[in-house]
Amino acid sequence: MLVRAEHIGKSYGRQKVLDDVSFGVERGQVVGLLGPNGSGKTTLMRILTGYLRADEGSAYIDGFSVAEQTLQVRRRIGYLPEHNPLYTDMYVREYLDFVRGFYDGIPRTRIDEVVEMTGLTPEARKKIGQLSKGYRQRVGLAAAILHKPSLLILDEPTTGLDPNQLVDIRRLIKALGKETGIILSTHIMQEVTQMADRVIVLYKGRIRLDRPIKDLETGEQIIRVELDTEIEAEWWKRMPGLSAWENLAPQLWELRFDTREDMRGRLFDFAVQTGFKILSIEVQHTDLEKLFRQLTTEARETV
Ligand code: ADP
Repeated sequence: MLVRAEHIGKSYGRQKVLDDVSFGVERGQVVGLLGPNGSGKTTLMRILTGYLRADEGSAYIDGFSVAEQTLQVRRRIGYLPEHNPLYTDMYVREYLDFVRGFYDGIPRTRIDEVVEMTGLTPEARKKIGQLSKGYRQRVGLAAAILHKPSLLILDEPTTGLDPNQLVDIRRLIKALGKETGIILSTHIMQEVTQMADRVIVLYKGRIRLDRPIKDLETGEQIIRVELDTEIEAEWWKRMPGLSAWENLAPQLWELRFDTREDMRGRLFDFAVQTGFKILSIEVQHTDLEKLFRQLTTEARETV
């Protein structure tokens, strides 16, 4: 396991910003940390990089505690903070050489490699202050991968980019993800499906969902329905569009539909036709956008 976060908690004054956050990241995985503003993404990332101490719990990279801030930890992590501080008076290569000085044993030729990898070649002779926001972000990425970290932590890497720059940076991040593990934060759902293998939804400091993207895109819909009475499984054969059903408790069923269409209305119609009452309906699993809304609002999908 590349990263292990165990029961991380952090408070600012009375506000609990992170609450019992645990997850793992495998090598070569791109994990999208998704959540509305204020949900604790930056705080979590700063703890993972060792810039900030957790009040509770611990995090490890390759088994080394990040709180120790040892050489082993620093060499393994590349960090692109949200407001990437770049020296605007420096030339691109000059800046990368300056960053190179923070580490031991990185050959000068590595600068050419990262310039190439991040698509900076056409702009590499300019001063950072002369670059567009998209290219500045590439410089930030180039600096973050200079020491060949095994984990890249990118805090809102696409914020403030125009649509073309967005596409380019997303593509670049996806390509970088083939070489290293990545944790990236965003409040935009589509970004996660485009770049990540896995999504972790953080809301009010707690993990609300941790799941591979492929499981979210099946178009399958899972609905838990509570009835006022016990019924035979045979009844469900008459429900159109239903692909599987399972009895979880005497009056509680889990139903699977192979469709993105919201099946709750049809379920109500079916209940009326067959003469039983629905006490509650809970959509367990739909596509990411819906799911995100459900997970990041207080109201539950209960009728
Ligand atoms: P996100 O990155 O998801 O937008 P943050 O981790 O930046 O969320 O912030 C989570 C919460 O912690 C917010 O309510 C924010 O106001 C609060 N917070 C963050 N940093 C501090 C700080 N240094 N002092 C007090 N509150 C903070």
